[in-house]
Amino acid sequence: MSTLITNIGELVTNAAPDDDPGQGPGPFAALTGAALVIDEGRVAWTGPAGQAPAADEAVDCRGGAVLPGFVDSHAHLVFAGERSAEFAARMAGTPYQAGGIRSTVAATRAAPDEVLRANLARLTREMLAQGTTTLECKSGYGLTVPDEARAVALAAEVTPEVTFLGAHVVPPEYEGDRAGYLDLVCGPMLTACAPHARWVDVFCERGAFDADEAAAVLAAGHAAGLLTRIHANQLGPGPGVQVAVTAGAASADHCTYLSDADVDALASSGPPSSGTVATLLPGVEFSTRQPYPDARRLLAAGVTVALATDCNPGSCFTSSMPLCVALAVREMRMTTQEAVWSATAGGARALRRSDVGHLSLGARADLMLLDGPSHTYLAYRPAVPLIRAVWQGGQMSRP
Ligand SMILES: [Zn+2]
Repeated sequence: MSTLITNIGELVTNAAPDDDPGQGPGPFAALTGAALVIDEGRVAWTGPAGQAPAADEAVDCRGGAVLPGFVDSHAHLVFAGERSAEFAARMAGTPYQAGGIRSTVAATRAAPDEVLRANLARLTREMLAQGTTTLECKSGYGLTVPDEARAVALAAEVTPEVTFLGAHVVPPEYEGDRAGYLDLVCGPMLTACAPHARWVDVFCERGAFDADEAAAVLAAGHAAGLLTRIHANQLGPGPGVQVAVTAGAASADHCTYLSDADVDALASSGPPSSGTVATLLPGVEFSTRQPYPDARRLLAAGVTVALATDCNPGSCFTSSMPLCVALAVREMRMTTQEAVWSATAGGARALRRSDVGHLSLGARADLMLLDGPSHTYLAYRPAVPLIRAVWQGGQMSRP
């Protein structure tokens, strides 16, 4: 079954050089007056609409823009409860602290599987309706061996990009025994979670885990066959980015407080396919009223930048990649092209995925149709539901 998607006002392809999907995405690239053919769940043809080949069925975009689906490379979706009172207090002047995670841990532990599964389904539906076709999902609100194992198993029901985040915070029952908790995370908990996970992550921050602890968690995860990523430099300057680059992590996430040495380390961490991406999460700064990360400084240094939501019940409860694009453009001074690239191709780089984030020939047919003629509308019309249709592996749904 092939599908011709035609009369596309602007087709953002981020096509790889030589259109080789094995390389992953290339730089921002777009065609006007374009068409695209999907066959067997893959992109089979792109080019001028007038030259499009025949297909089994056709979709007329009526001049709307078509983009690669968003790749949300940072989300915490396995949880119960909510923290709107904490948000309201924060907006009234109470600062965000990592320890707020503990209230979600208590609610998550107490919740039956069906409650967690229903919450996960609701959030992933929300994401798809907003154009997200690939999402990463972390554990980290269980913090016992069975609760973390349950979280990664539930996450694996909705995405292949599952991250074990046992090292989110030290749970209350290990208050006086950090070393004991780290032994648990790097031992039995990792053993129980690794079969369901692709990634290991650690919250390297004052109030969470220090540089040595974070490095130990990443090394244990790596030894168990997991790829590495890290929460770094969110609440203040710290060692997280250096730990990430030293460990060869795919991504250092947050990057709000960086030294020149941190920026240099990210810039010289390797080519886009194997270096460390800086994943910026502007929904967090929006929701915590912290200063936004300096995207222009990272881009000027040649760092690969991704944008993601960090959807979680505490510091940022949005599932909207269009909001993140709008914030990146308005508040972080990224161009509309940079922001859209970072929310699609950048996310793919942060997940070491070569098959998504772009619409080169052979790429996964993950794409969205906008109610607007160009990608710029995502930032130009903030908070407006612009996604008219989404294709995931060639399967169309309409929000
Ligand atoms: Zn996070």
